[in-house]
This record gives sequence, C-alpha cells and structure tokens, in this order.
Amino acid sequence: MSQPSGTLFIVATPIGHREDISARALETLRTVALIAAEDTRNSGLLMQHFGIRTPLTALHEHNERSVSATLMQKLQSGLSVALISDAGTPAISDPGALLVESALAGGIRVVPIPGPSAVTALLSVSGFSARHFFFYGFLPVKAGARTRELATLAGLQATLVFYEAPHRIRECLAALAEALGGERRIVIGRELTKLFETVHRTTLAGALLWIDADPNHQRGEFVLAVEGAQQPADQDPARHDALLLALLEKLSLGDAVRIAMQVTGTGRKMLYERALQLTQGA
Ligand code: SAM
Repeated sequence: MSQPSGTLFIVATPIGHREDISARALETLRTVALIAAEDTRNSGLLMQHFGIRTPLTALHEHNERSVSATLMQKLQSGLSVALISDAGTPAISDPGALLVESALAGGIRVVPIPGPSAVTALLSVSGFSARHFFFYGFLPVKAGARTRELATLAGLQATLVFYEAPHRIRECLAALAEALGGERRIVIGRELTKLFETVHRTTLAGALLWIDADPNHQRGEFVLAVEGAQQPADQDPARHDALLLALLEKLSLGDAVRIAMQVTGTGRKMLYERALQLTQGA
C-alpha cells in the first residue's frame, strides 16, 4: 500500500510585530517536517524567538520551480511541509503560487493558516469601504507601463491597494496623483505593527507634501489605500468630447482635463490626449 501524502500548509507570519503570529501557525511550524522560507536567515530568527527547531529550506522567486519539485517528492513521501514568506501571507506579492499549483496538480492537500498581511491590516483601519477593493500590489517601475496600468484603474469603484518600496514611494505618489487626480483621498500605511507605525490620511496632492515634509516619511515599508472612483467611468468618447470642448472654452488645458477626470472617472492620459487633439483641431 502506498504511503499517504503529507499536507502543504501555507502559513502567514507577522508583518512586523512578532506577537501577531497565531497559535495555530506556531503549532503547525513546530509539527511539520520542513519549513520552506523565502529568507532562511530572517525566518530563522523568528523560529529561534519561538523556540521552533524545524529545519528550514530556502524557497524564493528565483528557485521556486526547482525547489517545488523537491518539496513535491517530500510531500508525496508522506512528509508535511509549511511555506512561509519573509513577512505576511505567502503568495500575496510573494512566492508561493507555483508551489501551490504543483501541489494541487499532484493531489496534495493544501491548507491555509491565515494571519497578517499588509493589505488587510491597512484596509481595516483605512476608513474606506472595503466592500469592494482591488489589490494591485507593486506598480510597474517603468513610467510608461505604470501610467498605462493606472489608466485602467482610474474608473474602478473599489478601494485600490498598492505596495511600494521606500526608494520609489515619492515617484509612486506623484504617478497616482497625476493619473487619478490630486483630490482623491489616500491612506498611507508606513511600518505597520512596528515601532514607527504611521497611518496618514490625506489626498493624493497632500500625500506629496507630506512625503516631502520630513525625510523620515520616506523610510520603511509602505502600503497605500486609495479611495475608489465615486462613479463608474464614463467611457463614451462623444460625451468626453462635448465636456472637454465646453471646459476648454473657459479653462486651461490642464484644468479642463482635471475636471473632466472628476466628472467622467476616466484616466488622465486618455482625456489629455483627446483635449490636445481638440485644441489643435480648433
Ligand atoms: N506577503 C506580504 C503580505 O502579505 O503583506 C507582502 C510581501 S511584499 C514582498 C512586501 C511589501 O509589503 C513591502 O514592500 C510593503 O509594500 C508591504 N509591507 C509589508 N510589511 C509592511 C508593513 N509592516 N507596513 C507597511 N507595508 C508593509
């Protein structure tokens, strides 16, 4: 008779405060045969803190495919394995999806051990409706690709959530203000659950002022929640033209585009290009 397969546990770990780990996560990490961790040094410290001696093996974005194959052999031989990431919930802007996919394809039971994630931590205190939210994660680094992505999000009637690295936070906030309009509200979550935890509520225009006001504001880890569009995006080009023409009679191109963005919920790039064509054709 063949050996019953082991279970793959996907275990959430803290995003800062160590005591945020759940009792069930600790029990699972203690009892599995092996823990696959994104960064074995960081996770080693966490395990040491909780007196967990389970062996660790590295699984990160550069070796996920090959390590998944090795882990599959262990799971199929009856050993249970836990996957953890550097912080928060695996597979949320972190490795994990490939391993889960191969486990499922191989008939392995996959069990979530839920817990912290920066996205849910910020949403829970944002004050924005999270009835619908759109988790984007990290925006593209290149300006063109980022603008295109933001244009597709501008009309969404759902709170938008982004992750960003400290060295790109200013650029990211500027791009958000440009694409969605300076009046949209944002909640900036910095260093959540850590010593310098900050939750700053402002507008996208205000966010740039805040980030420039103090060099400390640009340090640490960031998660951003931006309020959704207030009305569905109006994508009718004829209505866009009529609105832009009326606004351009009295206002500068920039002001006309800004107001048209608010009225239609459409992204800046599309309206700007059309306004330019209309002024040149006039
Ligand atoms: N899997 C993680 C989760 O569930 O939140 C996210 C991993 S992703 C590689 C790391 C990013 O998450 C950071 O660059 C930052 O944008 C966000 N993040 C993680 N911890 C955070 C914290 N304590 N405060 C604010 N943002 C955080």
